[in-house]
Amino acid sequence: MKFISILALFLITVQLAWAQPKRTFRVAQFDIQYSISDEGVALQVSELLKQEHQRLQRFFPPFTMRQRYGIEILPAPEWTAFRRRMGLPAWSGGVYVARERKIFLPGQNVTQSLFTLEHTFRHELAHLFLQAYLQTVPVPRWYHEGFAEYVSQGNLTMEDGRRLANAIWGKNLLLLADIDSLNELPASRARLAYVESLSAFLFLLKQLGGAANLPAFHETVKQQGWDQALTRHLQMDAIDFEIKWYHWLEAEYRWFIFTNLDFWLWVLAVLGSIGIYYQIRRRNKKRLAEWEAQERYQFPVTPPWRTEEDEWDDRPPKK
Ligand SMILES: [Zn+2]
Repeated sequence: MKFISILALFLITVQLAWAQPKRTFRVAQFDIQYSISDEGVALQVSELLKQEHQRLQRFFPPFTMRQRYGIEILPAPEWTAFRRRMGLPAWSGGVYVARERKIFLPGQNVTQSLFTLEHTFRHELAHLFLQAYLQTVPVPRWYHEGFAEYVSQGNLTMEDGRRLANAIWGKNLLLLADIDSLNELPASRARLAYVESLSAFLFLLKQLGGAANLPAFHETVKQQGWDQALTRHLQMDAIDFEIKWYHWLEAEYRWFIFTNLDFWLWVLAVLGSIGIYYQIRRRNKKRLAEWEAQERYQFPVTPPWRTEEDEWDDRPPKK
């Protein structure tokens, strides 16, 4: 059964490849591969590549990329098959595969994707540069993602702030170690993971004294490893870093809850129900007072239902 589906997949791929011959063009040391139907995307990608290529070099010490790298744009059905084969989540809108030195992108932006094609391409290109510079030196996944988000987006947006505030108040922030299994997270948690990664990267940048010091930091990571780089440039170990980042995150972003519409709707609902409660109480009191006044008016002196005991009690005492 599995063989048949693999065969079917192979035949579909062959047929698609047959139907749409791949074209390639070169930009610096990159080969951009695409089908004729995705020519627009390929041109957009090459423009972005020219811009980003210059900008990305600023984050590293001068180095030359000796190998060639690839960017392959896959038509939508091919992308879906590729994504499944690679075990990528449905929210994935592109990937950099280090062992193939290649970025894979879908031709048309995938609807379930978390980010736009432009955002995804800048993000994946940042992964590529970081890996091209560090080669096999390992860095935590959150750093890879944080750096890639910094390159593609820059600072945190208001929406990111709200997302962080919700996670802080709801006590469901991810640990930095949880970000290692990013690909297994559902879309909403994955988004939080990207935002947290970026916030941790920005915190690190603050400790470093700005982006101008990134090349030196990257150089130490490459020569002495991640832990040594943290100690040397930040005077922290990894645990220290996470604790300090966490406190900074809480202090900076918990008040973003006030920019959250849901929060104000909630406050409004609470205030509203308190208001309604007091209004009902006031109305009841008023009605009771009215009834009492009415009774006094209808039966002004003594009530007519005097009993025998009353009569008895009213008699003058016997002597
Ligand atoms: Zn990434």
